[in-house]
Amino acid sequence: MNLVGHKKQKKLFDKMASSVKIPHNLLFVGPEAVGKKRAAKEFIKRLNCKNSACGECGTCRDIENERDSDLLVIKEREEIKIDDIRDLQKRLALTGKRKDSYKAAIIDEAHLLNSQAQACLLKTLEEPKGKALIILVSEHPQTLLDTILSRMWSIKFSPVETELIKEELKKRGAGEEEAEKISQLSFSKPGLAIKLFEDKEFKKRWVKKKDDLNNLRNSFLAERFEYVKNLAKDRKEAKETLKIWISLLRREMIEDGDESEVLRIKKALKVMEDILFLTSKTNVNLKLSLEKVIINL
Ligand SMILES: [Zn+2]
Repeated sequence: MNLVGHKKQKKLFDKMASSVKIPHNLLFVGPEAVGKKRAAKEFIKRLNCKNSACGECGTCRDIENERDSDLLVIKEREEIKIDDIRDLQKRLALTGKRKDSYKAAIIDEAHLLNSQAQACLLKTLEEPKGKALIILVSEHPQTLLDTILSRMWSIKFSPVETELIKEELKKRGAGEEEAEKISQLSFSKPGLAIKLFEDKEFKKRWVKKKDDLNNLRNSFLAERFEYVKNLAKDRKEAKETLKIWISLLRREMIEDGDESEVLRIKKALKVMEDILFLTSKTNVNLKLSLEKVIINL
């Protein structure tokens, strides 16, 4: 299975795949970029590939590239709406192209489901049919209706050991030094490490945001507000920036022994996390929210 770490979960997948009754509704929870969506795809491969997720056959490749007609992936939305769920229901109701194969849907960032969409999804979860599988992937499952949560089989994913991430990077062609450096930068998140290694533009942005954070901390308020003014123009960039800063602060919190410093970081983190969460759920005033972040750095 092409999944870095998560040994326990892989075992569970094997066990589930060989059991007679596979749960129809799964929820993969845990921090961003630790491999939840990756695991969802691997589990679907495990179910539908004749050679237990070989990674080589047509089925595995189609699932990997999200081109398999028996797989629907809902992702990269600002908000997941009722039409997305209606589409999912239609897709799951069709007959599969392969005999005995599972029809599956992955809803990435399921916390972005709006309330109408959640109500609509609930119907499907309540009446699972045949060989259908729905996997919700989320780092904020608390935003899902209790009625949804109670129908899901929840599997938790945690950060992965740095050593395993390093090995994976080397497998992908990184030299010893680069693998070491990136695995340290990635805070135990294989998804982040691979992106930093493979997407040079992303790495550039990431390092810049890291420098920005340090510079802003040593800047006067006027300069900080100027920075926010520009950042608030691009919602996507603002969200990415918050995610990067949150990772950096979490790490500082672990490494810093000074109690008052830890309290200060904790406070800054709380503000950032609240605002990141709000920006993904509602139309908050981005500039005002970011100003709150920036004065608490
Ligand atoms: Zn295969």
